[in-house]
Amino acid sequence: MNISYSFCTSCGEPLQPISDPGLEQPFRECSSCDFKIWNDPKVVAATVVTHKEKILLVQRIDAPDESLWSLPAGFVNKNENPEQTAIREVSEETGIKCLPIQVLGLNYSNGIILIVYKAELSDKSDIQTPVTAVNELKNTGWHPLEDIPALQFPHDWLYIDRAIRNQGLPLDGSLADPFEQGIA
Ligand SMILES: [Zn+2]
Repeated sequence: MNISYSFCTSCGEPLQPISDPGLEQPFRECSSCDFKIWNDPKVVAATVVTHKEKILLVQRIDAPDESLWSLPAGFVNKNENPEQTAIREVSEETGIKCLPIQVLGLNYSNGIILIVYKAELSDKSDIQTPVTAVNELKNTGWHPLEDIPALQFPHDWLYIDRAIRNQGLPLDGSLADPFEQGIA
């Protein structure tokens, strides 16, 4: 993901590339205001939610094959703890309320840093049929762990396996009451 900007998105003046010996790649700085563009990676949080030997999966409309499924996931917003992203995205995409309990791993690909959590249903969740609440999805559903459908992202198998084996790292509990904080 290498997007190149030529003009300031704040004031419209030209951006100048700035090189610093301590930086691997230059950033761009506005010639008029102090606006800067960093060519940073994007961060995505994905979540393995299981309940009673079933896993919560979604089907995205941009999947290369419409039979493929993936973990609920989305971009981390500015000033958002990725654990909050995990809760928010699962809620937005499926209507299910969950709480992250472990981090299962990290993956880097094509400018995207993926953080994968294991989550359990929160006591605020009724176990309704998940709803497809956002336009980027075709379908959502619970699938038996012994019969997981073909996945869009092959690395998701690794994280699902770790979640089933309880091999993630525990979180520090800083999001003890996310629903009281109005996150989801
Ligand atoms: Zn500017």
